[in-house]
Amino acid sequence: MKEFRSGSQILFGHLPEQTVDAGGGIWKVKRWNDPKTVNAIDTGALREELIRAAYPWKEANPSQDGGFVDDLLAHRPVRVHALNREEGVYCEPFPRLFMCQRCKRLHDDAMGKCKCGATARRGQLPFVGYHDACGAIKTPYVAKCPQHKQRAVRFPGTASAAELVFYCPECPPGTFLNRGFGASCDCALGGALSFTVHRSGNVFKPRGISMINPPRREILIRIEQAGGGERALEWMLEGMIGRRLTESAAAQNPASIRKLLEDRGFDETTISAMISAMPDTAEAGKSTLELAPELRADAEREAKQVALGVLPGGTAHGKCPR
Ligand SMILES: [Zn+2]
Ligand SMILES: [Zn+2]
Ligand SMILES: [Zn+2]
Repeated sequence: MKEFRSGSQILFGHLPEQTVDAGGGIWKVKRWNDPKTVNAIDTGALREELIRAAYPWKEANPSQDGGFVDDLLAHRPVRVHALNREEGVYCEPFPRLFMCQRCKRLHDDAMGKCKCGATARRGQLPFVGYHDACGAIKTPYVAKCPQHKQRAVRFPGTASAAELVFYCPECPPGTFLNRGFGASCDCALGGALSFTVHRSGNVFKPRGISMINPPRREILIRIEQAGGGERALEWMLEGMIGRRLTESAAAQNPASIRKLLEDRGFDETTISAMISAMPDTAEAGKSTLELAPELRADAEREAKQVALGVLPGGTAHGKCPR
């Protein structure tokens, strides 16, 4: 079965492990098919953004980020994927708990012949189990009658998962197996699963960050060569003279001058001589702003975003006239 969704719908509502309604059933996104890898990303800045966004979960007691922030701090590689519009995403039926519309017996499969004789399409129960501590999402487990290996459900009129009554359709009326779902997670953290309807914000809530990305990787490299975040902050404090960081930087930053001269084929002695003959711009260009190191890191990252933002979409401006 194939369904169509817009790219932005998929980006915000069809992330891996997210549940979706489609074609009269409920599904879980199993994977994005052959996603595209995005390379023109400032992974350093992205890493910092991710750390900031995920930090509240690390700080939670007990830590709920699964080691994500520590991995980022340890510089584990960050890869960015984009949707492959031709291949789309792959979903599987979820939760796998289906009910015979006639006798209310529960089945693991959407189709088949029920003990009561019905062959009509079964209804899918919309409840899922989730574990706050590890993020797992599971089909709720409903025990079967030990003797008859069956179970059925009765809805007492509310939509709450805790109110559901499970009973054996073969045992004498009046007996029941369970009230509400109940199970603990099989992860290392342990603890009970919570149950609710699949679209609840408790089950899955996508988070986003906003960043300015250069259209091509070379533009990012040019910003770095021009002095990166440190230079970007100075440039902003000086009033963004030159309009673009990459225009003003060459005249101010010895490292970028060195790079420029190397690119033009000058030898080391000549380069050193030229640089020492220049006025000491390193000091003159230094911003006088006193900032705590963490605040400075934030300011530099954001200044770099501004520098990226004012660059035109990586056009002829970027070509060096050699
Ligand atoms: Zn049935
Ligand atoms: Zn029974
Ligand atoms: Zn768990």
